[in-house]
Amino acid sequence: MTMNSFTTQIIAINDPASAAGQAALAQAGALIRAGHLVAFPTETVYGLGADALNAAAVAKIFAAKGRPADNPLIAHICSLPMGERLAEFTPLARLLAERYWPGPLTMVMPRRPIVPDVVTASLGTVAVRWPSHPVAAALIAASGTPIAAPSANTSGRPSPTRAGHVAEDMSGKIPLILDGGAVDIGLESTVVDVRGQYPVLLRPGKITAEQLTELCGNCLLPRPGDAQRPAAPGMKYRHYAPRGQVYLAEDAAAALLIAGRLAETPLFLVSDRTAEQLLNQGLPASRIKTLFHTGDLSRYAQVIFAALRDADSENEANIVVEAVPEQGLGRAIMNRLKKAAAK
Ligand code: AMP
Ligand code: MG
Repeated sequence: MTMNSFTTQIIAINDPASAAGQAALAQAGALIRAGHLVAFPTETVYGLGADALNAAAVAKIFAAKGRPADNPLIAHICSLPMGERLAEFTPLARLLAERYWPGPLTMVMPRRPIVPDVVTASLGTVAVRWPSHPVAAALIAASGTPIAAPSANTSGRPSPTRAGHVAEDMSGKIPLILDGGAVDIGLESTVVDVRGQYPVLLRPGKITAEQLTELCGNCLLPRPGDAQRPAAPGMKYRHYAPRGQVYLAEDAAAALLIAGRLAETPLFLVSDRTAEQLLNQGLPASRIKTLFHTGDLSRYAQVIFAALRDADSENEANIVVEAVPEQGLGRAIMNRLKKAAAK
């Protein structure tokens, strides 16, 4: 694979409306329009963006990430008319856009011919999201074009939630990273197929199945093998994984059982309550990292990918991670953790 070699510039951008912010956005927008890649913060995770209407530019995303070509991208927009250029909005799509855009919801809709095949992996649909992060929205506006963007990590690794994570994976491969600080949510967007009467949940996220059911009357799960409703193709790959082996444990007792089968004490990434119980069982404090207060799933979501990346940096071979109930945001957290734990 040939890949242009770049000196990757990282520009901090706190206020898009400031003079410095405007200058950074003008530079980033010019790069997007010229067919280059720019990494940028969103409210979910950092994205790796290209002009969604430029097939050659979008192809660079797949090369930089090592992403399989059959895994389609999300097109990011900053207005409804921009979305209408890409997709046919159904009544359900309009209802959800009204309630949740801008925000962490991606909608899969029938595509229009203007969208290149490389974005959609040649599916008849396109995934569209209007992000709420001010830098993301301002970058799309400055570029004057929708931006196709997956998470800005090397394929398979935990998604980046800080600019430094993007630099770990993309240094030398892209010209610019916009640094907007740590992200708010920490997990990728909820993805729903909105072609039918009810949303079909293709990937769980911050906007939960419970919330979608409340607004739409129902929220379906994809039926395996239903050609009319393919699950988000990306979900079949190993994902979100550090190099060490991840084990899931629902409580301290389960964590101790797993540790007992390993030759060396693993790293524990757990809640404060589990941490206390592990300490009481005599496990060394140096092997225990408290990530969140028990029950604070928003905080857990925010920090889990960074914790998995830190475990990589420390060359941890075995990582025991706390499982949480699969409801609300816990469904999205467990979706990522199960993939991270896949052998
Ligand atoms: P990423 O941007 O890396 O978080 O991945 C985007 C997710 O959306 C992946 O799981 C894709 O498979 C999914 N996706 C994107 N476009 C479509 C589409 N047209 N139909 C179904 N899933 C899609
Ligand atoms: Mg991703």
